[in-house]
Amino acid sequence: MLSIYDFVFHQKSFYNFAICTTNIYLVSLTGTLLLIICLMNEIKYPSVLLENLVNELHRLPGVGKKTALRYALHLLKSDETDVANLGNSILKFRSEVSKCMVCNNICDNHICEICCNHKRDKQLVCVVENVSDVMAIENTAQFNGVYHVLGGVISPINGIGPADLDIPSLVSRVAEGNIKEIILALSPDMEGDTTCLYIYKKLADYNIEVSTIARGVSVGNSLEYADEITLGRSIVNRIKYSI
Ligand SMILES: [Zn+2]
Repeated sequence: MLSIYDFVFHQKSFYNFAICTTNIYLVSLTGTLLLIICLMNEIKYPSVLLENLVNELHRLPGVGKKTALRYALHLLKSDETDVANLGNSILKFRSEVSKCMVCNNICDNHICEICCNHKRDKQLVCVVENVSDVMAIENTAQFNGVYHVLGGVISPINGIGPADLDIPSLVSRVAEGNIKEIILALSPDMEGDTTCLYIYKKLADYNIEVSTIARGVSVGNSLEYADEITLGRSIVNRIKYSI
């Protein structure tokens, strides 16, 4: 005959066993569900050639596997001449496009159109991270100077140091003595600020003005939605009101 202690002990053991079994069941169920989701997301390709093309397109920035598949199937439906033109354009661009010898912008010849343009102010140089930044500033039609493309920013986390950037060529341009102002137009983040500081120190011995692009509240944005750092910088770097 079971004592009260034995009864309670057995009840507790059964309770613990039940919890344990439920946990194991839930863990295995979760694992199975995750596996099913993974298998559902995995695309089964009917052709190795299609899979290879999708994998190559997927390497492009911002292109997921499904988008890559859509591109690949679109190419399959396209005219063969159009596909050949696309392939040739990619190959020609990759092999023939060159860097401007002055500013590192991309160009078809040795010197870009901006550096060749005699109407541009060569004493005013805007330092940017990438070619896409040159295009963005050019689209504003507000800048009449020339550029210097660094090819990146200092980022120790990503293993990019000053030696990996085109900073020496910028210093050489300044050392020639024809530049009056350098505008540092880099991203307002830790890497951009670090790069600005490094360049500023490198150019400290030269008699030029070093400025940065204004940082503040975006046009059309409400003040209450601006973050504290941006709003604080807008107050500190306020400008005189004019019409
Ligand atoms: Zn150039």
